[in-house]
Amino acid sequence: RAKAASKNSSQFFDAAMHTQVLNRVALETDLRKALEREEFVVYYQPIFDLQENQPIGFEALVRWQHPTRGFIPPDEFISVAEETGSIVHLDRWVLEKACQQIANWNQKFALNSPLKISINLSVQDLHQASLIREIDRVLAETELAGNCLTLEITESLLISEIDRTVDLLAQFASREIEVGIDDFGTGYSSLGYLHRFPVNNLKIDRSFVARFGSGNREDRVVDTIVTLGKQLGLSVTAEGIETTQQLEQLQKLGCEFGQGYLFSKPLAAAEIERLYFSNRSSAGSTAPKAFPCA
Ligand code: C2E
Ligand code: MG
Ligand code: MG
Ligand code: MG
Repeated sequence: RAKAASKNSSQFFDAAMHTQVLNRVALETDLRKALEREEFVVYYQPIFDLQENQPIGFEALVRWQHPTRGFIPPDEFISVAEETGSIVHLDRWVLEKACQQIANWNQKFALNSPLKISINLSVQDLHQASLIREIDRVLAETELAGNCLTLEITESLLISEIDRTVDLLAQFASREIEVGIDDFGTGYSSLGYLHRFPVNNLKIDRSFVARFGSGNREDRVVDTIVTLGKQLGLSVTAEGIETTQQLEQLQKLGCEFGQGYLFSKPLAAAEIERLYFSNRSSAGSTAPKAFPCA
């Protein structure tokens, strides 16, 4: 009986795996066509200055509106795009779209200080020699200042091809483009590399922020990253702030920037305009903070 059961379960897993493989192949094929068909949309999640309680800009987060499968979240297609190489085209598209949008908002609304935009890059993007030319082209075309752009990379990148990465980061720095380390604390976390690279920002991974405020050891991780940032002269951004308790504790620690559902989910551009650039007078306690205008 036991034998029969295990035979059945292995058949079940084979079938499940078969479906998974088919799904993946279909995803790969669809990804290649999705860019031409303009099925991607850039969403924007506001990033706040936690001390001033003011939004300072956005992180660009891509969404895929698949014609038959509907909405597919990035966690389900970014890794496939990375493996097939589509990620390079996708990220170039996001870079251009998001920079155009930010430049447009900066022109349309007279803000006290220009909005900033953070873009996620994958390892493959940084291995393309044409990346810096492409960034130069987009900045020139949109007339966006280099210091309005932050490139988010992950720790694994800093470990691979160190010399080339140092060169590339120096080219970003000479344009005043900022570099942030995304998901900080989840990668190799070799502190030895940090001072060797001209990076500007540490982004505390959401998993640490989620468990923050429980009074246990997780608190110390957030605490330690904020202190590390201060000592190395890097700004720190907390990701995934969902409760006022988390916000207050981060403010107490002196964490400079933050984003999360407490402030806003990532939203389509039209929604951002409606919420952040209009109705300034009707500021209730739950209304999102508007951008400061001149
Ligand atoms: P990430 O760069 O770490 O982005 C933050 C993720 O946390 C986003 O997920 C965001 O929606 C989510 N998030 C923000 N605040 C909260 C919160 O308070 N609670 C919870 N539960 N989640 C929150 P998203 O948009 O699903 O993106 C997932 C990942 O996909 C990103 O993680 C990023 O690594 C990747 N990704 C997204 N867009 C792009 C892109 O254009 N290019 C590349 N290469 N990767 C991208
Ligand atoms: Mg990010
Ligand atoms: Mg990321
Ligand atoms: Mg993250």
